[in-house]
Amino acid sequence: MNVYSDINCIKGVGPKTKKLLEECGINTIMDLLIYFPRDYKQFTNCISFKEGKDKEEIILRATVKDIKKDVRTKNGKNISTIIFSNEEENIKCKWFNQSYIKNSFVLNEEYTLKGKINIYKGEKILLNPKVIKSTPINENESIEPIYSLKEGLKNTTISKLIAEALNNIEVEENLPKWILEKHSFISLDKAIRNIHFPENKALLYEGRKRLKYQELFTYSLKTNMLKSVRNNNKGISFNISSSLNDLKKQLPFDLTNAQSKALREILTDQKKDIIMNRLVQGDVGSGKTIIAIISSFNVIMNGYQVAFMAPTEILAHQHYEETTKILKNFNLNIKLLCGSTTSKEKEIIKKEIKEGTVHMVIGTHALLEDNVEFNNLGFVITDEQHRFGVMQRSKLINKGKKVDSLVMTATPIPRTLSLYLFGDLDVSVIDELPPGRQKINTYFIKSSEKERAYSFALKQINEGRQVYIVCPLVEDNESLDLTSVENLYEEVKKYFNEIPISILHGKMPPKEKNNIMDLFKKGEIKVLISTTVIEVGVNVPNATLMIIENAQRFGLAQLHQLRGRVGRGDKKSYCILIGEIKSDITKRRMESIVNSNDGFFIAEQDFKLRGGGEIFGFKQHGEEEFILSNIIDDIELFKSANEDAKSLWESNNLLDKNIINYILNKLDRDSRYICFN
Ligand code: ADP
Ligand code: MG
Repeated sequence: MNVYSDINCIKGVGPKTKKLLEECGINTIMDLLIYFPRDYKQFTNCISFKEGKDKEEIILRATVKDIKKDVRTKNGKNISTIIFSNEEENIKCKWFNQSYIKNSFVLNEEYTLKGKINIYKGEKILLNPKVIKSTPINENESIEPIYSLKEGLKNTTISKLIAEALNNIEVEENLPKWILEKHSFISLDKAIRNIHFPENKALLYEGRKRLKYQELFTYSLKTNMLKSVRNNNKGISFNISSSLNDLKKQLPFDLTNAQSKALREILTDQKKDIIMNRLVQGDVGSGKTIIAIISSFNVIMNGYQVAFMAPTEILAHQHYEETTKILKNFNLNIKLLCGSTTSKEKEIIKKEIKEGTVHMVIGTHALLEDNVEFNNLGFVITDEQHRFGVMQRSKLINKGKKVDSLVMTATPIPRTLSLYLFGDLDVSVIDELPPGRQKINTYFIKSSEKERAYSFALKQINEGRQVYIVCPLVEDNESLDLTSVENLYEEVKKYFNEIPISILHGKMPPKEKNNIMDLFKKGEIKVLISTTVIEVGVNVPNATLMIIENAQRFGLAQLHQLRGRVGRGDKKSYCILIGEIKSDITKRRMESIVNSNDGFFIAEQDFKLRGGGEIFGFKQHGEEEFILSNIIDDIELFKSANEDAKSLWESNNLLDKNIINYILNKLDRDSRYICFN
């Protein structure tokens, strides 16, 4: 067995478990080892049951005194009761629907129990406690890892499999010695063991730190690599086409100064014979798409093809529509390629791309597929960059030779962070909104005042406008997300009677999503209830009200992006945040979004106010490169990882060069923990 062995070489993995594991993305031992707990349960080591509070999780040792007869409740539940005792008191334990539980206990034997205190009608019980096998209470038994699970898969199963794998494997160290020493890191093997089975809190912390560093270091190596590849290769030198003037004359609006400046920077890059690698950062609604279209046009006029990739089908459609509209008089062959494109159409489009008759293709991840081959790719644009990993970006770039690359993001990233995050990119900023945009009036109300928001929504609809309602996001759990949209739908339906409402969520087939978005765009749907699917880029100027439920759960930057879905036309727009304020930080966060419409300011605030894990929403964005680390909280670690990666990359030390080669050879295999052996 080694880390690349198939998961079924572990004892106890039959076809059924294998399938469940595969659904969690676990195919090999390595996948299993880096399936890190999403959280840990902390148990209070409590000897005194008496002092335990309601809902507190405790561990205690006690002896079985009495095993009661099972009772059946009116609604058919089976309750088993066992009375335990220790020196001080009696402890009543109850289990629901586990009649077999009695068989695991013997009268007068002592057990270590772990469970939750429950006080019901004045009676204090331990509910559904579990027995811990080993006799003494160790410190490690009070930290229990919790894994993200798919239905049918138990937490204990994952734990057991990992334990079994770690019994057979020692994970080889993969960082150079000088890095380990510099940071006093524990070994990779020890880190992996402790993240799954913490010996104690301190080692859990050390383990997590080591592995967080691993992510950030790997990421930084990649950006360093991309940067040097680019600097060492000559790019295409595009001419500035005279047709650009014709296009500019036909634009439906004048570019803002900020747009013109960004466009100039891009065209200057295009003209140079080095490879362009530029990031356009611009607040929501600042008009990035038009910049992408104009610069694409210049590349097409030079006889090269353009690929424009968006993170969702909805966005790809939208870009496609806007592009074909803007370029309609130039007789260009522009195609849309998405997952939901029929296979027959796909074949035709791919053939045309390969033959070079397609000038520009707009699409989703579908563009990354191996069989999408270009005749003469010259320019790649990725929208909302943080949704795509660095490696995905380079995959598209590699479909051409010396391709220029432009990435666009609406997430205003504080300067310090963008230095590490986009170390390989030059940055243009569009810090101005098109004229005539009004401030989006933003309000915060408590959940108990919800009805006010809905009656305001009705008023807007009666005036012919449309409304978004965004639902609380449930982290890491798509099926829960789904229930929360559906519940919200049931809840708000009654306020809107005959008005057409629809749900939109991530689990819908893309066709259905597009369909609903189309109806919403056409104004046939008045209220759209959705998860954060709509967060990025969607443009429906007639929507003037955004209601966000459980607003305190979102990162500020994310709230700002959501809010940016309204205020896209010339009509006064509003955003109502509904939520609960339980801490001072939450209060200040909500204040900064209510009081400001400036994405960059908000991002800085978010950065400063960072309160426990509710920041920025990078994880929610699916930035797969960072599983453990939070690039905001771990900024210092990110900084040193970046410095280390840079000096490793630039070093002339042969040993270090070997490490780099080794890492590069593994890049395709696993982008995150590439340096496993
Ligand atoms: P984002 O930067 O969020 O991607 P978009 O490119 O979707 O923004 O632009 C938002 C809206 O503003 C679009 O409807 C677009 O046509 C419009 N727009 C872009 N630039 C200008 C401009 N200079 N003047 C007026 N409207 C503009
Ligand atoms: Mg956009």
